[in-house]
Amino acid sequence: MRGQTHCLMNEDVAVIGSQSSATAWGRLTIDLAALAQNYRLLRDRAAPAACAGVVKADAYGLGARPVSAALYAEGCRHFFVAHLSEGLDLRAHLPTDAAIYVLNGLLPGTEQDCAASNIIPVVNSVAQFYAWTDLAMQLGQKLGQKLPTVIQVDTGMSRLGLASEDAARVAKETDRLGAIDLRYVMSHLACAEQIHKPANDQQLAAFRRLKALFPQAGGSLANSSGIFLGADYHFDLVRPGAALYGLSPVEDGPNPMAAVVQLEVQVIQTRHIQAGQSVGYGYTATAPGPMRLATVSVGYADGWLRSLSSRGAAYYNDLRLPIVGRVSMDSMTIDIGALPEDMPDAFRVDLIGPYQTADDVARDSGTIGYEILTSLGQRYARRYVGG
Ligand SMILES: *Cc1c(COP(=O)(O)O)cnc(C)c1O
Repeated sequence: MRGQTHCLMNEDVAVIGSQSSATAWGRLTIDLAALAQNYRLLRDRAAPAACAGVVKADAYGLGARPVSAALYAEGCRHFFVAHLSEGLDLRAHLPTDAAIYVLNGLLPGTEQDCAASNIIPVVNSVAQFYAWTDLAMQLGQKLGQKLPTVIQVDTGMSRLGLASEDAARVAKETDRLGAIDLRYVMSHLACAEQIHKPANDQQLAAFRRLKALFPQAGGSLANSSGIFLGADYHFDLVRPGAALYGLSPVEDGPNPMAAVVQLEVQVIQTRHIQAGQSVGYGYTATAPGPMRLATVSVGYADGWLRSLSSRGAAYYNDLRLPIVGRVSMDSMTIDIGALPEDMPDAFRVDLIGPYQTADDVARDSGTIGYEILTSLGQRYARRYVGG
């Protein structure tokens, strides 16, 4: 067992990030070959619908630029971000035939920037529709071109998009609709990972009804989990994020996705303590007998959530090393009783890896894998392999 290391280090390895691999205490490895494999699986499953990549929030914390480049190389031509600023950054790094969509819509005053940068807004409200089509009509008269556009309709989530009466009103604006190139009508599923929930069918029915108001446009409804609800949910474009990054799109049953993320952190000190000695802030843990502890260089400032205190674990190969006491800002303490006595002073342990997925960590900390990935801080050295 000991001396065995993970063999992600091979082929071309690019290390980027604010920390070099020599000085960083933690190492985040992103396997772009696994990402590409996940893209192919989702694409094949959704075909003949096109398959986008959702790369908002820096591709769920994994790096929007390298992730998008890898998806583009795999044939992906549709990229969704949440903010215009994310779209502008990506625009400069992707070829012009990549469509970039902004999910959160048009902030008032940004219409011109959006159009000039060849970014496609997701129009979420009547006000956005009028502001955007005002510009489209001006440009159309001047340049004879139509602005590519997505309209979102709300089918139950009450979060973003036109309510059904607003959608009906907008659908009557034939002059304005004539000035845009309405690529897709989209909506978002609230409960897609719960495959038996009636909400899915209800949202599907509502989506069909609202989409019929815009017969010229394609449809887009499914996120990662929605792809696994079946072909009825695929329409013309699916929008996976989480599953690309290896998170499980299905609540029950095995995860069909390949692991993309490995997170290893450094042990910076080891010690023996006696029965009755306390550990960490608040003295919330007390040794029941002699214990061997290691202090690891990771804390809640690195997105290793404080709710993992005395609940989660690190791994050394397949050996589980439970967290003892509270997670601090920059460190935490683990029980290394399962390891041989003659470990070196400094060694690495896995926080996300072959024996513990981001979904497992999420379960221990009472959240979802999405939050685990997007919380990963900026202090890790990031390695991209398999690209
Ligand atoms: C984030 C998001 C997605 C991707 O969802 P996953 O569950 O990560 O696949 C798709 N569509 C919209 C509107 C989103 O906000």
